[in-house]
Amino acid sequence: MKAEIIAVGTEILTGQIVNTNAQFLSEKMAELGIDIYFQTVVGDNETRLLSVIELASKRSDLIILCGGLGPTEDDLTKQTLAKYLNKQLVFDEEANQKLDAFFASRDQFSRTPNNERQAQLIEGSIPLQNRTGLAVGGIITSSDRQYVVLPGPPSELKPMVNEQLIPHLSKSNTKLYSRVLRFFGIGESQLATILSDFIENQTDPTLAPYAKIGEVTLRMSTKAINQVEATKKLEALEGKLLATKTLDNKYLSDFFYGYGENNSLPEVVFNLLKESHTTISVAESLTAGLFQSTLADFPGVSKLFFGGFITYSLKEKSKMLSINKKELEKHGVVSAYTAEKMASQARLLTKTDIGVSLTGVAGPESLEGHKAGTVFIGIATKEKTVSYKVNVGNRTRSDIRYIACLNAFNLVRKTLLNL
Ligand code: ATP
Repeated sequence: MKAEIIAVGTEILTGQIVNTNAQFLSEKMAELGIDIYFQTVVGDNETRLLSVIELASKRSDLIILCGGLGPTEDDLTKQTLAKYLNKQLVFDEEANQKLDAFFASRDQFSRTPNNERQAQLIEGSIPLQNRTGLAVGGIITSSDRQYVVLPGPPSELKPMVNEQLIPHLSKSNTKLYSRVLRFFGIGESQLATILSDFIENQTDPTLAPYAKIGEVTLRMSTKAINQVEATKKLEALEGKLLATKTLDNKYLSDFFYGYGENNSLPEVVFNLLKESHTTISVAESLTAGLFQSTLADFPGVSKLFFGGFITYSLKEKSKMLSINKKELEKHGVVSAYTAEKMASQARLLTKTDIGVSLTGVAGPESLEGHKAGTVFIGIATKEKTVSYKVNVGNRTRSDIRYIACLNAFNLVRKTLLNL
């Protein structure tokens, strides 16, 4: 929101008074996260005030006018703004009663038409009552612009701003802020089940799960007046979400891998490899290069990925990776043994920090007694070589291969975090 302040008063232009209202208002708006782009001072002159209002209306969303609400002839702020907006002035009941009470308590003065202006508002305004004076202020919205009219005396302006304008702007000046949490290894239905209380009862921030192939994201959205307030609310909810227990007695934080709309799991892994200067090599069977191709999407990958192997048949696994053929035949290609050997040999042959392997059944037929979707992933580091059996489920070949890769990326991520 772009805002500006127009202080009305010839006394300011002639140097008789200092424009402290502008300073006070700028400070208050900054606290609300509203940017003041211009401050103008204009004398008590209708033509010049009109031109200043016209200019402000072209460049600002919020225009705050102060001064010129009094009873004398030269107090013409409301009248001029009403003229510019092509609207009438109308009495505000509360301000009118206050004016009546004021004159009733002073026998020697009677209410004149000039005094009446102090109780008038531009039609359609939200009144800002004057607790310490007589002139009512107001907020009027026209053509998506908000105009605020405030009295000149700081003793009247300050309480009006603090008690009425700021609460009003805080409410109407909120923006939507979001944060996306990314999870791998947990399904959307489990996520929706364990978070059902949050999803159903949370009004601010709100929570929405989205499922993609192989992963789930949670979008938290909140309305706040600025980023600082939004971050506070989003972080509080994030803490509660990640501490939620899953159905298998883990915590949601065990499945959380990153933030953002487009921050994919492979990208998170690539960044971890880069930051830790870790080199990687890969030996792939069922994924036939998909892992390596995904890794190669990221610029700068050549510093950490020098090459790898696509060993689809048993023969090539043995030949390219120098693995004993008889042992491979004994254990089968879809086995922990083969996955571990592939990973450790890939690492040794390329002299890298981490070796990764994928071997399994892309389907639709079973292989070696294993159903489609059974995948063994090997991870070799200097310290040890381990393998994980993952069941990706009965899906299309391309989905099985894609999710197998995501599982491998996730295991590399966990390994890097524990190195
Ligand atoms: P009143 O009802 O007293 O006439 P008003 O809303 O018409 O109030 P002005 O006549 O413009 O306001 O100014 C009244 C007094 O308020 C000024 O004499 C000055 O003391 C103070 N004042 C006005 N504008 C400012 C300003 N921008 N910064 C600081 N003080 C101001």
